[in-house]
Amino acid sequence: MAETYDILILGAGPAGISAALTAKARGRTTAILSADPLNTPLAKAPRIENYPGVAAMNGRQLLAALLSSAIEQGVEIRTGRVTSAAALGGKFMVGQEQEIYEAKSLVLCLGSQQGTKPFPGEMEYLGKGVSWCATCDGMLYRGKRVAVLGLGSGAERDAAFLKSIGCDVTYLAAAQAKDVEIKGAETVTALRCDGEEHAVDGVFVLRDTVAADGLLPGLRMEEGHIAVGADMDTSIPGVYAAGDCTGRPYQIARAVGQGNVAALAADRYVKERET
Ligand SMILES: Cc1cc2nc3c(=O)[nH]c(=O)nc-3n(C[C@H](O)[C@H](O)[C@H](O)COP(=O)(O)OP(=O)(O)OC[C@H]3O[C@@H](n4cnc5c(N)ncnc54)[C@H](O)[C@@H]3O)c2cc1C
Repeated sequence: MAETYDILILGAGPAGISAALTAKARGRTTAILSADPLNTPLAKAPRIENYPGVAAMNGRQLLAALLSSAIEQGVEIRTGRVTSAAALGGKFMVGQEQEIYEAKSLVLCLGSQQGTKPFPGEMEYLGKGVSWCATCDGMLYRGKRVAVLGLGSGAERDAAFLKSIGCDVTYLAAAQAKDVEIKGAETVTALRCDGEEHAVDGVFVLRDTVAADGLLPGLRMEEGHIAVGADMDTSIPGVYAAGDCTGRPYQIARAVGQGNVAALAADRYVKERET
């Protein structure tokens, strides 16, 4: 296993980049784990005019500028979907694709939680036929029938991967699906999607993001967002959150400010445990 990071940041949007820069400035070991940082909702913004210090530009240009400031400061950015996190013996273990990372504190900067509401049956059968990660769990379904619910950017590529390792794959581009239910007994037996029923042994639900409380069980949510205090502290000691995942208004300046506050609080948390 790699080193234990002081502050591990999940999500490379404005909040995560701001948190990483502050963590670095405080001399903390840090890294950002994120899905493709240039494939986020902000990248589609046609024009940003209310972010101070930069001329009006589109979202992709602003993201590129933010990312290069992080890279310039030596922030490590590891690309891939994070699908699990857990508190273990005073530390945190975070699963990204097939890698596991260890950290003393976490800052969650996962973006708005829109589109993460689980389907009926999804949480019930998670780990019993439902998976959020093709590369992590694909081998368990070799020679079996699986459905891939494509809800995010890498889903088609993941379906091709599952096929390549010998799964019998039904791919459903499900972003517009209105009626989805995962059915089973002890484990998954079928998937219903817009009136059609598919007999399957497994269902890969592949979104770009994962509901924060599904990612980190025990995290308190409030009206679909992570509940935070004034220091961006969450219900789990050592875990902080910033940006759109903590609520409205969804704005870059707010995300950047909260990322800074969250990293300063994470720094204090780590320091208190050092002395
Ligand atoms: C079309 C559009 C126009 C906008 N225009 C403006 C504007 O003009 N001015 C303004 O202030 N705001 C604007 N916004 C809002 C702004 O984009 C957000 O407020 C801001 O991006 C929030 O930053 P964030 O870091 O909290 O989240 P995000 O920018 O959403 O970043 C979240 C990051 O986390 C990653 N992530 C999430 N889940 C996982 C996971 N499970 N594993 C790995 N990575 C994960 C994502 O891939 C992403 O990189 C606009 C938004 C949109 C969609």
